Amino acid sequence: MSTGKEALARSASTHAELLRQLPSIDQLLSSAPLVALSGRIDRAMLVQVARETLESLRARVLNSQRFPATGLVEPSVEDLIASQVELLLTSSLQPVINATGVVLHTNLGRAPLAPAVVEEFRRTATQYTNLEYHLESGSRGKRDVHTSQLLARLIGAEAAIVVNNCAAATLLVLAALAKGGEVIVSRGELIEIGDGFRIPEIMAQSGALLREVGTTNRTRLSDYEDVLCENSRLLLRVHPSNFKISGFTEKPSLNDLAALAQRFSIPLVEDLGSGCLADFSSSGIAEPTVRASLAAGVAIVLFSADKLLGGPQAGIIAGKKELVERIRRHPLFRALRVDKLTIAALNVTLRCYVRGAWDEIPALRMIRATLNELQQRSENFVAQLHAALPAGQVQLEVVDGASLVGGGATPEQSLPTKLICMASLRYSAAKFEQRLRQPAAGLPVIARVENNRLLFDLRTVFPEQESLLLHAITAALST
Ligand SMILES: *Cc1c(COP(=O)(O)O)cnc(C)c1O
Repeated sequence: MSTGKEALARSASTHAELLRQLPSIDQLLSSAPLVALSGRIDRAMLVQVARETLESLRARVLNSQRFPATGLVEPSVEDLIASQVELLLTSSLQPVINATGVVLHTNLGRAPLAPAVVEEFRRTATQYTNLEYHLESGSRGKRDVHTSQLLARLIGAEAAIVVNNCAAATLLVLAALAKGGEVIVSRGELIEIGDGFRIPEIMAQSGALLREVGTTNRTRLSDYEDVLCENSRLLLRVHPSNFKISGFTEKPSLNDLAALAQRFSIPLVEDLGSGCLADFSSSGIAEPTVRASLAAGVAIVLFSADKLLGGPQAGIIAGKKELVERIRRHPLFRALRVDKLTIAALNVTLRCYVRGAWDEIPALRMIRATLNELQQRSENFVAQLHAALPAGQVQLEVVDGASLVGGGATPEQSLPTKLICMASLRYSAAKFEQRLRQPAAGLPVIARVENNRLLFDLRTVFPEQESLLLHAITAALST
């Protein structure tokens, strides 16, 4: 019978033995598999990965109570290092097929960019450019010029500047126009957008004081009027974005708010969130346009460039020239400004609007897709699936459903769509969904699961991706 002491001694010797089995760094680096890697990875990086792998194996030996009978490592140390190197050499950011029907899906990167953006990157991103250089005078210029005039024209603003995103725009505007003073906001608009963006917290960060008025469901013009004082810096209107208050509700019109602000010589600022530049009413989307807000007397509007606008991530601040200039002079602007790639992508997207070429902007194209078109694509796709899959393996039908614009735009507002509804006789919906999301090869597919069936909305699938989707589905259903 072995005593505890003996067991301890044996375990210690096994530990020591196993540690001795580990190769040295030099042995590893001269082994065939690592020599084969050396052309593909920086030497210092390879040494670092090899050291870390050895360290973690050492720690595993020292912490483990049970030892594998066959010795220490399976897979080999070299294999472990090679797989770490592969991870480093492969981008973790990869394309996916969005079959959810949520057009501006924040988790899937919001608006896909127009193909013309890639052309513009090719033309300018790998070159020096006149980003901040005034060619006529040969002196320093401002990066704003590449977007400000286009924006101003498209939305009817005197001036416009661009920062990192709409959250940054809100922070900057509050800091520049209201620090130390009061900002009056309706209690029905103190929203959280998601990922921690909360109006009261942004307000606190900016150094402005939040003055809440009204109630969650009803706020009148007189509520604003009652608290206006010499310490009031601005009136803030916030688009409710991802929620809706319905029923017994009331809020003053933008025109009335603007007139009130003017009477007290302070600006009305509107955080529009999604920032619609086009009229989507024919698609059944009633979203206020930026132009309409400015026309109603809003002094400064803020909106995202990667929501309904369909461009790159950015936040746009537009409106009265004097105010925009004040905001631009604030030190935070320098910290929140956008880079040349964003400017290039935004410029290309805005010029699609100038040309009236809405369908060149993928998000707009998807939103504007007609039910007829979606029905045809869905039926074609189902026919192709039937042809590609062994009979009796799936149940397939095309049903009525709803796509979402997403991105906090148009709460509750959905677009009528056609859904391909699919049940596999082999896999549960959860398993089928997981197999599509983590395919052995090809693009991951993100679909909806409902009532133990998978739903595919072709609205957000690019037509040229359909054959990839077909392939992904047949692969996911095979063994
Ligand atoms: C989405 C949204 C924001 C945040 O915009 P980002 O560009 O994601 O920073 C701010 N305000 C409103 C009303 C929004 O809908």
